[in-house]
Amino acid sequence: MNASTTEFALPTVERPRMDVDIVCVGFGPATAGFLTTLSKQLVKLDGTPAIESAAMPGMPPQVLCYERADDVGFGVSGVVTRARALRASFPEIEKAGIPMAAPVGEEKVLYLLDPFGASRRSATLRLADSFIRAFKFMLPFEQHALQLPWTPAFLHKQGGLVLSMGQFMQWAGAQVQSAGLAQIWPGTPVSHALIESKKVVGVRLLDQGVDKKGNVSDGFTPGMDIHAALTVVGDGPVGPVGRQLDDVFGLPENHHKRDWAVGMKFVVDLPEDTPLKPGAVLHTFGYPEPEIFGFLYVHPDRVASLGIFVPSWFDSPMRTAYRYLQHWMLHPSLWRYLKGGKLRSWGAKTLGESGRRGEPHLTGDGYARIGEGSGTTNVLTGSGVDEAWASGTQLAEAVLELLKAKKPFTKENLEATYVKRRRASWVESEARVAEKSRNGFQKGVVRGMIGMALAGLTNGKFTLGGEPVQPWKRIPTIEEYYSGRISRGEIARLRGECKAKNISLHGALMDKVGWPAIPFDGQLLVSHQDALLMGGKVQAPPGYADHVEFLHPELCEKCGTKICIEVCSGQAITLGGDGVPNFDREKCVHCGACLWNCAQPLPDNPERMNIAFRAGTGGLHSAEN
Ligand SMILES: Cc1cc2nc3c(=O)[nH]c(=O)nc-3n(C[C@H](O)[C@H](O)[C@H](O)COP(=O)(O)OP(=O)(O)OC[C@H]3O[C@@H](n4cnc5c(N)ncnc54)[C@H](O)[C@@H]3O)c2cc1C
Ligand code: SF4
Ligand code: SF4
Repeated sequence: MNASTTEFALPTVERPRMDVDIVCVGFGPATAGFLTTLSKQLVKLDGTPAIESAAMPGMPPQVLCYERADDVGFGVSGVVTRARALRASFPEIEKAGIPMAAPVGEEKVLYLLDPFGASRRSATLRLADSFIRAFKFMLPFEQHALQLPWTPAFLHKQGGLVLSMGQFMQWAGAQVQSAGLAQIWPGTPVSHALIESKKVVGVRLLDQGVDKKGNVSDGFTPGMDIHAALTVVGDGPVGPVGRQLDDVFGLPENHHKRDWAVGMKFVVDLPEDTPLKPGAVLHTFGYPEPEIFGFLYVHPDRVASLGIFVPSWFDSPMRTAYRYLQHWMLHPSLWRYLKGGKLRSWGAKTLGESGRRGEPHLTGDGYARIGEGSGTTNVLTGSGVDEAWASGTQLAEAVLELLKAKKPFTKENLEATYVKRRRASWVESEARVAEKSRNGFQKGVVRGMIGMALAGLTNGKFTLGGEPVQPWKRIPTIEEYYSGRISRGEIARLRGECKAKNISLHGALMDKVGWPAIPFDGQLLVSHQDALLMGGKVQAPPGYADHVEFLHPELCEKCGTKICIEVCSGQAITLGGDGVPNFDREKCVHCGACLWNCAQPLPDNPERMNIAFRAGTGGLHSAEN
């Protein structure tokens, strides 16, 4: 393993140990799907074990799940989903009374034009915009937005559900826990997997009572070692255990994890007279920058989830999701629905957008990978929850088969059961269609949109070329990005001013190129700091090491873009006096964006950048996100 990217030098101490049958890392939709399916078949109707535990003979298999966040209802997501896998697990899901759930209603896709002339549009896009404006009387054009005449079939979610990730996960967690056959432990980050002779034998929980650097301090409590015959890794796109396995076992040939996005969302109360109906689904592209996609989904009781995705292929050193989200909300075609609304909660999280091409080795001796970290997210259909859930259920069926046959969890056995099921499923066939669908975006937005449409309409037979490159290669300098719009001298002046005030630079630069000021109203348009408080920031408990670290300070000292500061969703990364940024654990919302928003590669690994993002505590807690 590359210790510099994933692990502290942990103290060698006597550690408490527990032996179980199955240990899971992370409680997202993937693990929820796994535990839901598994726990239904571990005991007979009379309550006696259907399968006997090896760790505790006479009992059903002992299954534990550790979740980093302080509650099982943590999660930041859309969510609109076709809910095929969810419905297979819960055929009566519509009648289950899940709060904030609604059947999908009207779906619309809007192309947003720039009403302020501030966004960076290519000549082709400007030409297209002029054409649309010239013929707007003939087109479904309103409030600076063109509604696509039809929503392509591959984007449709008809028959599906609008959900709140937090509410759904709380409900799913309650279903699992009420069966009494699996324990879920929130507030318990897993530090790393225990690997012996290339076999995963369990996990180690995070040490407590250490200083920021991980050194033993007052009240030191070593993290427990949990030994298990099977470790299920469902820790999402930026999970440290998944990345550790990527480091140790490598990725399959030609696979890489280079495409990412940070999704930032608000949950809002819509105004009382809103015309939007529960289940309404709105997707946007084109604004505030052409690369930024947006969504608005309506829950019952006038509540909406809305947000944007800022992708790694947005070639800008100013990838600030918060400010762009506010400009997106203020677009006339959206503001007409949002004006008078009120912020309820807020959140941000990374999406792993490499899909099938980022698929790691799904199994090995003693472990299996599920969910987004295992490459399930489909970037063509814009769907991740159902796919993650499906991968969890496929693993559960495989595990039940192996347990019943008393076969060990070797790579060979897991391949013959879990991977076989996954390859035969719609998750795989749809992932293949989506695999190259976004390649075009590597060479521009117009090409990207055409490529996506081509892939969607031809079932992946045709795509437009463009190999994904490492995110750091796509980050121009600030001077390059604003060339022709802000002079080098002016950039230097603004940089100095912001440094003196210890604030990030993007606000000043965006003001300078014409982005209008945000008219804060204290209700819906609030400062980033206020959003942090309103979003349900959880205090990071003391006694844990910093989970974000700048690995090679000398690289930071000479780094001009400092994109890590600009992108930080929680304003947790700020300027440091010597050119090396500061990290404030209290403010981090664990979005994971800093992991892939760094302008410098590691000297020994071009696939990784100069930031370590490890297991940590705290973050956001909103049961609505
Ligand atoms: C803003 C946004 C909007 C989205 N919209 C949609 C949508 O409309 N429809 C859709 O289908 N999908 C959507 N997605 C994608 C979807 O949310 C993901 O694909 C899905 O959540 C993946 O599920 P998962 O279980 O694999 O991972 P995750 O949901 O990421 O869950 C992983 C869990 O592991 C935990 N964890 C991580 N590290 C550790 C550790 N060291 N120890 C213990 N626990 C750990 C995390 O806290 C987390 O709870 C959206 C995502 C975002 C960010
Ligand atoms: S972490 Fe990366 S982006 Fe941030 S200052 Fe260091 S090198 Fe630059
Ligand atoms: S420091 Fe925390 S909040 Fe900031 S980008 Fe990194 S993970 Fe997100």
